[in-house]
Amino acid sequence: THFGFKTVPSDMKESLVRGVFSSVASSYDVMNDAMSMGVHRLWKDHFIRKMAPQPGAKLLDVAGGTGDITQRFLEYQDRVNGDSTSSVHMLDINPEMLAEGERRFADSAWVHDGRISFTVGNAEHLETISDETFDAYSIAFGIRNCTRPEQVVREAYRVLKPGGRFMCLEFSRVENPVLAAIYDFHSFNVIPRLGEAIAGDRASYEYLVESIRKFPAQNEFAQIIRDAGFTTIGKGYENLTFGTVAIHTGYKF
Ligand code: SAM
Repeated sequence: THFGFKTVPSDMKESLVRGVFSSVASSYDVMNDAMSMGVHRLWKDHFIRKMAPQPGAKLLDVAGGTGDITQRFLEYQDRVNGDSTSSVHMLDINPEMLAEGERRFADSAWVHDGRISFTVGNAEHLETISDETFDAYSIAFGIRNCTRPEQVVREAYRVLKPGGRFMCLEFSRVENPVLAAIYDFHSFNVIPRLGEAIAGDRASYEYLVESIRKFPAQNEFAQIIRDAGFTTIGKGYENLTFGTVAIHTGYKF
């Protein structure tokens, strides 16, 4: 049942990732709740509150998947800003994940009013998107699956307008050793078992745990963001739930 991901060359990573998300697309939302015990909802709510988008803002939601960030962004605009002119462009490499997103919003006023659009594409080369088009860029639980995170961040910089903001929500490092031990147990024992029980797919969830381990730590990723040209405030990130996940923010000035 092991794919041997640790040894595959990086140019194969993209197709492997595509396979993982194709096989989990329909059970994806259930698994998120099970693995995080529902807490991913709170992380995503916090992410949008922190973004605090302006009325009329145009968001590019990269690795948008089934649309959790898109949904929260538009709800925020409706509820907090009373705004109906903002819009989201959702992009994902996996047509099946994106199709779940399209199904979710199919009957919504947002799609009816032309406020959501969908594209299959790779975060590393956003060739369908012109320079300086978006006010905000989000990538939630997506960048660690990309082969070259540096390239993803450079592309984000290119497509943002001056004054625009890059925001990333991603699993990160738990620093407290006691909590880290509990978290490791959850990652290596509980998650693959849940994957097997709920999605009938242990290997994909072993891959997900592995991809979390390999992603750069908070401060290393903040440096990648600065290297792409962004300005960060303070350390450039905020830890949530002891660093289980972190939100990184970069400003294009
Ligand atoms: N943002 C959504 C959320 O928070 O629920 C979905 C996150 S899901 C864990 C990760 C998504 O990243 C998948 O839909 C996958 O297809 C997408 N993805 C992986 N590699 C990608 C790439 N290189 N470019 C764009 N999307 C990618």
